[in-house]
Amino acid sequence: MSTLTEADEVLAELRQAGKLLLTTHENPDGDALGSLLAMHWVLEQLGKDSVMFMSPDEFPLPYEYRDMVFEGLVGAPPEDLDERTIVFLDCGNIDRMPVDFLKGEGLHILNVDHHHDNTRFGTVNLVDPEASCTAEIVWRLARELEAELTPGIADAMYIGLVTDTGRFSYENTSPDSHRMAAELIEAGVDPHLVSRRLYEDLPFRRLQLLQRALASVERHDEGIITLASLTRGDFEATDALETDSEGIVDHMRAVEGTAVAVLVRELLAEDRRGLRKVSLRATDGRVDVSRIAGALGGGGHPQAAGFTTELSLDELVNRLRTEVAAQL
Ligand code: AMP
Ligand code: MN
Ligand code: MN
Repeated sequence: MSTLTEADEVLAELRQAGKLLLTTHENPDGDALGSLLAMHWVLEQLGKDSVMFMSPDEFPLPYEYRDMVFEGLVGAPPEDLDERTIVFLDCGNIDRMPVDFLKGEGLHILNVDHHHDNTRFGTVNLVDPEASCTAEIVWRLARELEAELTPGIADAMYIGLVTDTGRFSYENTSPDSHRMAAELIEAGVDPHLVSRRLYEDLPFRRLQLLQRALASVERHDEGIITLASLTRGDFEATDALETDSEGIVDHMRAVEGTAVAVLVRELLAEDRRGLRKVSLRATDGRVDVSRIAGALGGGGHPQAAGFTTELSLDELVNRLRTEVAAQL
């Protein structure tokens, strides 16, 4: 494994860089946002000129991240882009970057990620599938860079850790995830407060959307697939945003007999009419949902993956049944 060398290379790059631009994948989740913000603050501590980029289309961010403040965020290419070292965080595939200016030739890219199917699109790739979250890799880098874990940095990292491990419940939860949690709590994180912010104290429309999702549940092949679907109408009726569907798929995986939990939702943007976003979660060790998502143009982890499709709901269900059956 060349992980050590990759980490050394990235550390050398970070130490040497004067100007950086940090970014993450589209529809950013807790790990994307947490590792972005933590890395930014670590670099600022080292006296670096760091800016963060996210497309203006990503806003508003999911409600659970409302208290994260992204000072130093840009929504357009900075003039000195070609002087900046670009750092991608938690992004397994360049196609998950919604803007073209960060896909161009000639950019110097550090690709820091934990997706096993990472396409290694960077100039330097630090990809560690053993890390529970990208924030865990940032945590290790921060230690090597001798950065102080300020309460802000610790909070951001903790958000990445808690969300990507499903509150320390998924297979990626390791001794290191708990060591990291302990260190972050010592650095000032209040686990209960973070949990309140992430999982409670949410708008009522979320519960209404969940209610509709639960009413839609179908089970296929003796319950091996448990699937919920949300239409544009469901979002309209509840005044919900796309990001309000976050977490719903976890209810599907909690049912006995389920090997693959699925949430399908119609995309709301006018220019994405007819497209559906599919979230897959595997609860049976024999099924690798990143292979299914990969075959349908997406990707992810063995136990959590996603893709966007033009298939109708019926076509999609048939395809999923075939793909899942092939792995069991
Ligand atoms: P989600 O179902 O959106 O919560 O995503 C679950 C996992 O799949 C995350 O690790 C994502 O990074 C990954 N993922 C989701 N959608 C895609 C996609 N279109 N392409 C590649 N990976 C994806
Ligand atoms: Mn992510
Ligand atoms: Mn992640």
